[in-house]
Amino acid sequence: MKVKIGIIGVGHLGKIHLKLIKAIPSLELVGFYDINPETSAYVSQTYGVKSFTNRDALINAVDAIDIVTPTPTHFECAEAAVRAGKHIFVEKPVTFTIDEAEALMKLVSEAQIVAQVGHVERFNPAFLAVVEDLKKPLFIDTQRFAIFNTRGLDVSVVLDLMIHDLDIVLSTIKSPLKKISASGIAMITETVDMANARLEFLNGSVANLSVSRVAVENIRKARFFMHDKLINVDFLNKTSEKYSLANQSASSKGVWIPLEMDEQKRGIVIDKPKVVFNNAIEDELSVFADSIINQTTPTVSLEDAYNAVVVAHQILEKINNKL
Ligand code: NAD
Repeated sequence: MKVKIGIIGVGHLGKIHLKLIKAIPSLELVGFYDINPETSAYVSQTYGVKSFTNRDALINAVDAIDIVTPTPTHFECAEAAVRAGKHIFVEKPVTFTIDEAEALMKLVSEAQIVAQVGHVERFNPAFLAVVEDLKKPLFIDTQRFAIFNTRGLDVSVVLDLMIHDLDIVLSTIKSPLKKISASGIAMITETVDMANARLEFLNGSVANLSVSRVAVENIRKARFFMHDKLINVDFLNKTSEKYSLANQSASSKGVWIPLEMDEQKRGIVIDKPKVVFNNAIEDELSVFADSIINQTTPTVSLEDAYNAVVVAHQILEKINNKL
């Protein structure tokens, strides 16, 4: 079975989705709709895909809709698709506001359709290489810095970039939030361009997240501290490392550095887990198709995405109170 799918929005990321969807066996790309006629003509001609001039006509022609428009328009597109009974894949952040995310959850639950959100780092091979070890992190430190780019400026850096790390943190620390502290500045745009947030959870875990869209190099890293090991994930360069304490017999697992400080002959083992390279966007879209075909819950649910949007807005409120 193939899921008939249409894309709304074929800008930077939408074009990448389009190319990948064409190659995914479980998806049949029916066409796309983009509000910009020049973009539509270019994409249709370049990729040989039907351009619909009316959003509802596209929605009516498919089983599922992939929403890759700017964030402030996610809700109106998602609402139209869900009201027509279509499955939805929505890029991150799922919506611009908490109210929209809440309304979308209600619509999706009533329509009983599959909804997945593009928190693509969950499919990053460097994260997947260590995810089984990320049990109960006590502390997570994330850094996401981007060279300045004019795309994504319609929302704050918290909703554009930090949302990725919020999803990773919330997917690994399974505990209610207790306290949020945050600072940020609006250096270039009207909204926050750089931010730091410290999240304290009821179980004692802490996450420290730093983001900036005014950087000289791109960095996307996270460090996870567990009680017996430290794990580093480089989301950009797709590498990960595990540091753990072990005696020499464990040296076969990686580089073993003796501590030379006690009789127990302990050392630090540095293991570089094998990263199985993939295309994370292709995988998340394939999982979406599989969830529709097999009627399973997608890896990144609407509830996960809602939780990330809620925390993002709590962070923004703390920052805006100070600005
Ligand atoms: P973009 O500006 O390059 O493209 C957006 C496209 O949507 C444009 O072609 C525009 O004409 C079209 N559009 C705007 N409003 C529309 C509407 N109402 N109906 C139909 N088409 C409309 O933006 P982008 O960088 O491709 O980002 C799109 C979305 O993808 C954003 O939500 C962004 O947060 C998300 N994104 C996610 C990642 C990721 O890592 N998962 C990376 C980049 C972007």
